[in-house]
Amino acid sequence: MITLIPENCNACRQCTYACLYGGIVLEGKTPVRTDSCTGCDACIDICKTGAIVSSGQNIRLGHDIAEYKGVWVIAEQRQGHILPVALELLGKARELADIRETGVTAVLLGDGVDKSGDLLIKHGADRVFIASAPFLGSYRTSPFVRIISGVIKEHRPEIVLFGATAMGRDLAPRLANSLRTGLTADCTQLEMSADDGVLLQTKPAFGGNIMAAITAANHRPQMATVRPGVMQPVCSPSRKGDTVFLDVREEHSDTIVSILKTVKKKQSRATLEKADIIISGGRGLGDSKGFKLLKDLAAVFSGQIGASRAAVDMGLIDHDHQVGQTGRTVRPCLYIACGISGAVQHLAGMQSSDIIVAINKDPKAPIFQVADFGLVGDLNRIIPEIIEQLK
Ligand SMILES: Cc1cc2nc3c(=O)[nH]c(=O)nc-3n(C[C@H](O)[C@H](O)[C@H](O)COP(=O)(O)OP(=O)(O)OC[C@H]3O[C@@H](n4cnc5c(N)ncnc54)[C@H](O)[C@@H]3O)c2cc1C
Repeated sequence: MITLIPENCNACRQCTYACLYGGIVLEGKTPVRTDSCTGCDACIDICKTGAIVSSGQNIRLGHDIAEYKGVWVIAEQRQGHILPVALELLGKARELADIRETGVTAVLLGDGVDKSGDLLIKHGADRVFIASAPFLGSYRTSPFVRIISGVIKEHRPEIVLFGATAMGRDLAPRLANSLRTGLTADCTQLEMSADDGVLLQTKPAFGGNIMAAITAANHRPQMATVRPGVMQPVCSPSRKGDTVFLDVREEHSDTIVSILKTVKKKQSRATLEKADIIISGGRGLGDSKGFKLLKDLAAVFSGQIGASRAAVDMGLIDHDHQVGQTGRTVRPCLYIACGISGAVQHLAGMQSSDIIVAINKDPKAPIFQVADFGLVGDLNRIIPEIIEQLK
């Protein structure tokens, strides 16, 4: 929220032009905040005379942002099993919390999840809030939003992280609205400013052509979703923490939506996120002959097949195998990119791999900038040679 210092105002009106909402007006020579102010603070940046300064308050909730402490992870489960992304987020939360010298809290909703606190603690949580009840067995927006927003409003965490899963993508924006705060979706990197606790949330933007760093300096909690496979889990079996059971009752249940049946999608797709070795092919494969080569190479390594979007668009392989911004995010021990140029949208999904090998006939291909080993040449000659050598 802004604080106005009228004696510093020179009536230049820049603030009124900068405000898209009519949130600030000049009455005579005095700046006045109107009810339309959203607290975006655009007027603070534009004011050169110090007549508009930040009051350090979350305008939406009316709390001082200094009251918000701790890093929280909303842990997701399926049929009582914690999803790996929850453990990955805890690893990141631990790192951020240590910088701020604060604690990590995990929040878990489900049915029969009473004993899951230990796993979350071992992966970095100091405290786990568990709500366990039959009506929480399957995700439904309303009860989850009601319960989680209640506990967030009570304890005021500084940061809340979600997996960018189907559930996280539904839950996080609804919560952000209920808490009157911002949300950055699909972050690939999170960094913390130790002094003021501002979270630098990096995500691909404008079709992946730029990496945007987003902050929510004046609102709390700061909320972000992160795709599975992006962050690293850490496990310390001796870690200790507290499990707190939330008192949830049937009135939290959703009377509008009921789940009649859950139908599992057939798992024809590659489990690329879990693969240790991925052999990926792009437009440079040319056709199905090139793709056969890729399969032969994958067989030698017992690896899984990945692909660029161009290879998918050419119909060489199913979209389930696509790696990148609009495909899978992978982190194998070994990623071999064959005939892939290394567009930012592709790199967004694989550049955290431990070792990257690139095969490309163009020595200037951007993929070589992220590759640990580069083989410049025609893949139709190089791949058979590798297969031969390995055999
Ligand atoms: C919003 C948006 C989202 C996107 N999401 C994704 C995504 O998730 N994943 C993704 O991959 N892309 C994505 N893209 C597309 C991306 O921008 C690129 O177009 C795509 O990655 C290019 O694929 P490629 O590298 O296979 O093809 P190209 O860029 O055409 O590169 C082919 C490469 O093969 C090399 N080559 C050709 N022949 C040979 C040979 N015989 N031997 C060796 N090398 C050879 C060439 O030198 C070249 O470097 C997205 C784009 C947009 C706008």
